[in-house]
Amino acid sequence: MHVLEPGKDYRDLCLRSGGDLDPARLQADAVRHYDDCYNDYLFAWSNRDNLALHYGYWDDTSAYKQHQALLNKNQALYDKAGIQPTDHVLDAGCGIGGSSIWMAKHHGNRVTGITISSRQAGHAARHARRHGVAANVDFQVADFCATAFDAASFDVVWALESSCHALNKADFLKEAWRLLRPGGRIVVCDGFLLKREFDDDQWQAVVTCLNGWAVPNLCSRDEFNGLLTQQGFDAIVCHDITAQTWSSVQHMYKVARRLKSVQTISQWLGLRSPAQTANYLVGLAQYRLFTENLTEYCIFTARKSG
Ligand code: SAH
Repeated sequence: MHVLEPGKDYRDLCLRSGGDLDPARLQADAVRHYDDCYNDYLFAWSNRDNLALHYGYWDDTSAYKQHQALLNKNQALYDKAGIQPTDHVLDAGCGIGGSSIWMAKHHGNRVTGITISSRQAGHAARHARRHGVAANVDFQVADFCATAFDAASFDVVWALESSCHALNKADFLKEAWRLLRPGGRIVVCDGFLLKREFDDDQWQAVVTCLNGWAVPNLCSRDEFNGLLTQQGFDAIVCHDITAQTWSSVQHMYKVARRLKSVQTISQWLGLRSPAQTANYLVGLAQYRLFTENLTEYCIFTARKSG
């Protein structure tokens, strides 16, 4: 039996250059992941319209189209968090700007996006100009566990598949709390563990996903709920959207299988970095996390009382 505990880093050493792990090392690996895989994501998963680095939300209106499902995810978070067009949103872990640009374009929000990758911030700013919303969005390089923003400077903190990168999720929630004005809301969307003990096979799938996505560990839904409560948030709601995510899980698995020979040949030719190969392997392994009920996928919303 293998046990995955909170607050620790369970990735293999294969992507690290050696030495003890610290948060700076973890962040460096995440930056390398997103920088190396920028083109892979745009080629195999998203497009220049949705710019999404997340699973889609498949409801009736998405009619089983990947692009629409990726955009629907933004609307799902927007609605569940009750975001208003006048809200200033912090997109904490903004990727290449997909959600920030979508909020500015479709709802007129002012959005500040932060990422630990300066290249991502550059890509995001360029995409915002292309989408004609550069005046409403601002992308910066910052750690969402320790930013330089003034306290109470945001109405909403939005974390779509990003808070999983924090070694201690409580550090992220503490900073979110500081940044929110009284009455502000947080929305967090991520995968959550359904169990903490795994057999050898399951452990291999879990660690392959952590390695490939530069994620140190995951929380369970109850643990995350507890961390929100400890931090002082109220009106906590957890929406289980595993069913609406399932088609994306399948889609990723199919794409990975389809690209197997391309991956194998280009890896053999030395054209794939370790981070790209690790990211490819997640496409296969993530399928098992869901088919074997090791993880679920949820949207949390909560409020900082005024
Ligand atoms: N929310 C985006 C991106 C998800 S990928 C989308 O849905 O498309 C995760 C993002 O979190 C990346 O941009 C990564 O750089 C960022 N991230 C990871 N650790 C971070 C940290 N400590 N501080 C800020 N951003 C972080």
